[in-house]
Amino acid sequence: MSASRLVFFCFTVLSFAPWLDGEPTPAKRGAARETRAEPEEPGITFNSVHVDGPYIAMTFDDGPSATLTPKLLDLLAAHHIKATFFVIGENVAEHSEIVARAAREGHEIANHSWSHPNFGKMSDEGVRRQLQQTDDAIKNATGKRPTLMRPPYGSITAREKRWIHNEFGYDIIIWDVDPYDWKRPGPAVVRARILKETRPGSIVLSHDIHPGTIEAMPSTFDELEAKGFKFVTVSELIRMAAARPARASPRPTGSGPTSAIVSPSLTPSPASSPSG
Ligand SMILES: [Zn+2]
Repeated sequence: MSASRLVFFCFTVLSFAPWLDGEPTPAKRGAARETRAEPEEPGITFNSVHVDGPYIAMTFDDGPSATLTPKLLDLLAAHHIKATFFVIGENVAEHSEIVARAAREGHEIANHSWSHPNFGKMSDEGVRRQLQQTDDAIKNATGKRPTLMRPPYGSITAREKRWIHNEFGYDIIIWDVDPYDWKRPGPAVVRARILKETRPGSIVLSHDIHPGTIEAMPSTFDELEAKGFKFVTVSELIRMAAARPARASPRPTGSGPTSAIVSPSLTPSPASSPSG
C-alpha cells in the first residue's frame, strides 16, 4: 500500500469509526457536527440543500405500509403537500398499488433497498442486487425508475456512494432533521422535534410504518405551514439548490446556516439505531 493510499485509508477508517460503536448520544452527534469533515462529493450526497426560500422536503421511509401509508397519502392530499417516499423493495412488491397511488398523486418514489440491510458492511454485489431489485419493483409499480437512494440507517461508505452514483445515477440522500420517531416517543414529541430542527432546505426524516408518526403529521404540517415553509420533493429541492451558500436566505424559523453537502458522520449508528 503506497503512502498516499495508506493516508486515505486511515482517514476513511477514522471518518467512519463513529458508526462502529454504540448509538451516538445527542452530545456526540453535536460534537461530530463541528469537528468531523468528509471529503465533499458535490452533486452526489445531500443531507440538506442550500436554497433561497422556505422550501423543505418531508421524507417517509421503510414503507409502504398497508394501513398507514394510505392514511398518510390522504393527509398529504388534504394539505396539498408533495413528499418523498424511500420505499423498501419487498414492501413495494407486496403493495405495489399503494406505491402507484403515491406516484400518481405527485409524490416522489425513491430506493431504500430491498430488505433494509446495512450497506456499509456488505459486498458490492449484495448492494447492487438490493438496489437493482428495488429499482425494478419501483419501475413495475410506477412506470418510472427512481433517481434517488437512501442507504438504510444512513450507512454507506464513500466508495459505495461513488460507484452507486456512477452505475445507477442515484443521488444519495441522508437527512438533517431526525425526530427519532422509530423510538415511538409519541406524536407530540415527534412534532416538537421536527418543528425545532427544520430550516429552509431541510430534508426531514420520518417513517410511515409507525402509527405515532402518522398521528403527528396533521399538526406538524399545520405548524410548518404556519411558519411559512413550503413542501417540495427531494428532487425538486435539489433542483432549487442555490449556486453558492454565502447569501442569506429567508429563515422562517430563525438562525442557522443551511448546508449543501452531507457529513455522514452525523447519521446514527447502524448497529443500534433504526433511523433511516
Ligand atoms: Zn429505513
